[in-house]
Amino acid sequence: MKRSFIREILESIDEETISFAGGLPNSLLFPVDDLKSSANNILKKRDVWQYSLSNGIKSLRKKIAKEYCKDGFETTSDNILITTGSQQALYILARYFEEKSIVIEAPSYLGAINTFKLNNLNIKTAPLQKDGIEIKAFEKVFEKAKLTYLIPDFQNPTSSTYSKSKREKVAKIIKKHKGIIIEDSPYSELFFEEKNKSISSLIPNNSFHLGSFSKTLCPSLRIGWIRASKELINKLLVIKESIDLHSCGLSQHLLNEYLKDDKKYQTHLNILRKFYKEKSEYFCKQLDTYLPEFVYNKPKGGMFVYGEFKEFDSFELLNRCMKRKVVFVPGCEFYVKNKNPHEIRFNFTNSSLEDITKGIKIIAQEIRT
Ligand code: PMP
Repeated sequence: MKRSFIREILESIDEETISFAGGLPNSLLFPVDDLKSSANNILKKRDVWQYSLSNGIKSLRKKIAKEYCKDGFETTSDNILITTGSQQALYILARYFEEKSIVIEAPSYLGAINTFKLNNLNIKTAPLQKDGIEIKAFEKVFEKAKLTYLIPDFQNPTSSTYSKSKREKVAKIIKKHKGIIIEDSPYSELFFEEKNKSISSLIPNNSFHLGSFSKTLCPSLRIGWIRASKELINKLLVIKESIDLHSCGLSQHLLNEYLKDDKKYQTHLNILRKFYKEKSEYFCKQLDTYLPEFVYNKPKGGMFVYGEFKEFDSFELLNRCMKRKVVFVPGCEFYVKNKNPHEIRFNFTNSSLEDITKGIKIIAQEIRT
């Protein structure tokens, strides 16, 4: 097992480095004052410091369930398991499906690939296109595996988003083969135009739907969740309890207090969407101006711009740029096999406009020398 290359890059850089590498939300938008007053309201209460329920505090689960209901996806607090970030949700599910075959997109989220490998899942892939996974290739591997892990909204690493028709086709295939989807959706609220209907809502009993407050609020809370049928949630609880008994009570109570005013959270989300949309447009404009040879699709949400320099090896380019204190992630890292040496993932959310221009200019200079 190798460590996450991205985490290694993040550890090796200093404050002067312009990082397009990590999937970091912009800390300027953390609603620090509101979180601070929520903290002030809860810290005096004794139960906040006590052991808590393994599936998570009920009022928080209720609030998460209500969001699903708003989207027409019938959900109650019994369908929700609070996890320590959605990364833990992936680990719990990998333990649950240990040694089974699983179909994932190529490329896919590195943290999921590593967790699946650690738990000896047999990973099969199908190519990811601009509008979602390639359907024929997917069905061919899925009919045997009967288990898939997909990121249909503003995917990490590609930002690719499934069309309505592909969502329906994938759901139909899963139902036909009596299979299961693990649908990972940490970016679904970060849309620039419209929210998509989840695949899970089309096949509620065949799905685990994963969410997280890491990208929408702040990652240090480490609060994510799994939405599934009550029976499946109960099966996962055994694994959850053996890992940490329950996710951090302080974080859960703080979040629960913050979410009491739904208007405040919705306003925050709207600010975030507008800010990230502007950042992504700026990033793309700088790419088009200084690096016209970079071929990519414009993101419709999320945090990444993904594409390729047809002529350049992305690792070699990274090594040269690192010396000039600019980093990004070579696309190879997101593949299990058939790695494309030319692809690159850029994060656009975390750098200032000034640093975006500066960093892209440095990459352009390295390409042209
Ligand atoms: N899934 C995907 C697709 C991600 O990109 C990430 C974080 N980069 C995670 C899960 C884990 O996020 P967290 O544990 O912070 O919720």
